[in-house]
Amino acid sequence: MKVVSREITLSTSKKLELVDITSEVEHIVRESGVKNGLCLIFAPHATAAIIANEHERGLMLDILEKIAEDFPNNGRWRHNRIDDNAAAHLASAFIGTERVFPVIDGRLVRGTWQNIFLVELDGPRSYRRVIVQVMGE
Ligand code: ZN
Repeated sequence: MKVVSREITLSTSKKLELVDITSEVEHIVRESGVKNGLCLIFAPHATAAIIANEHERGLMLDILEKIAEDFPNNGRWRHNRIDDNAAAHLASAFIGTERVFPVIDGRLVRGTWQNIFLVELDGPRSYRRVIVQVMGE
């Protein structure tokens, strides 16, 4: 089995933000030489997440608004006694920091309306990483 690991680095400019990394991920899959297997996309961060959905401006704002509604950063959270970003940790924990896609015939398989995004939950950050690991034959 072949295993190819690469890293995407990026910066974010807002507190909550979606960064489309689809083309970078697809490039890594193509270059990996893996024809059939899996592609893991993992953000090694406690205040970021990875999702797959449509790259449509209104929907992207809807997703961010829903996150802000579901994870308000208020005084109730104990983590805010030592830090000010409990909501970002909670959102990361529940949304998840990874997604896995099939790789078939050398291509990442995803729906037409499934772009891949890093979700910034505690920005802006000058340095965010996404690990892309392509495994298969
Ligand atoms: Zn924290």
